Amino acid sequence: MLSVVSTPIGNLGDITLRAIETLKKCDAIVCEDTRVTGNLLKQLGIGKKELISFHGYSDEGKISFILERLKRGDHLALTTDAGTPGISDPGFAIVSRAREQNISMEVVPGPSAFLAALSGSGLPINQFVYLGFLPLKKGRKTLLESFGKKERTVVFYESVHRIEKTLSELAQSLRDQPDRRIVIARELTKMHEEFIATDIRNLPDVAKKLIKKGEFVVMLGTP
Ligand code: SAM
Repeated sequence: MLSVVSTPIGNLGDITLRAIETLKKCDAIVCEDTRVTGNLLKQLGIGKKELISFHGYSDEGKISFILERLKRGDHLALTTDAGTPGISDPGFAIVSRAREQNISMEVVPGPSAFLAALSGSGLPINQFVYLGFLPLKKGRKTLLESFGKKERTVVFYESVHRIEKTLSELAQSLRDQPDRRIVIARELTKMHEEFIATDIRNLPDVAKKLIKKGEFVVMLGTP
C-alpha cells in the first residue's frame, strides 16, 4: 500500500492526525531529504523509521525498488520536504507507476503553499490556474505576456533569488493593465507570514522594498 502524505509547509501544528498515524504505522517513508523527514519524525515523537530518499523523475532504479517493495506488500508513505507530494516536488513518477500497476493507494491530504496563499489572498479563487515555478528561459516571456489574457487568477511559486526580477518582469509584461491586482504571500504559516497586496502600477516599487527572505507565492488577480 502506498500512502501519499502531505506535511506542513512551515508550521508543525498543521500536520494532520491521519498523517501522524500513517507515518507511525508505515514500514518505510519515501522522502526527499532524509534529514528533513528525520527531523519531522523526531518533532512528532515517532521513533526510528526506514527512510528511502527519492529526488525526482529520472531515478529509474529507485522507482523500481520502491515498486517492488509495494508489490511485496510493504506499506510505504510518500512525503516531500514540505507540503503535498507531486506539487512542484517529486512524487509524480511513483504515484503514476503505482497506479499503472494497480497498487493499492490512499491520499492523506494536508497543506500546500499555493492553496494556503490563494485562500488568504482576497482574490477571486473559485477558478484559478496554478503554474508551479515559471520557466527560467524558454517560453518565459511569452508566458508572462499571456497573463494579460488570462481570465482566471494565476498562482505560481518563486524563489527568494528570483523574486525581485520576476516581479519586475511581470510589471513590465502587464504594464497596459495598471489596475490588475497582485498579491505576494511570504513565509506562509511561519512567524513572519505576510501578504502584500498591490497592483501592477505599484509593483516595481513593492518589488524593490520587499523583504527578500524566505519563500514566496505570487498571485495575479483577474483583469
Ligand atoms: N510541495 C510544496 C507544496 O505543496 O506547496 C511545494 C514545494 S516547491 C519545491 C517550494 C516552493 O513552494 C517555494 O519556493 C515557495 O515558492 C513555495 N512555498 C513552500 N512553502 C512556502 C511557505 N511556507 N510560504 C510561501 N511559499 C512557500
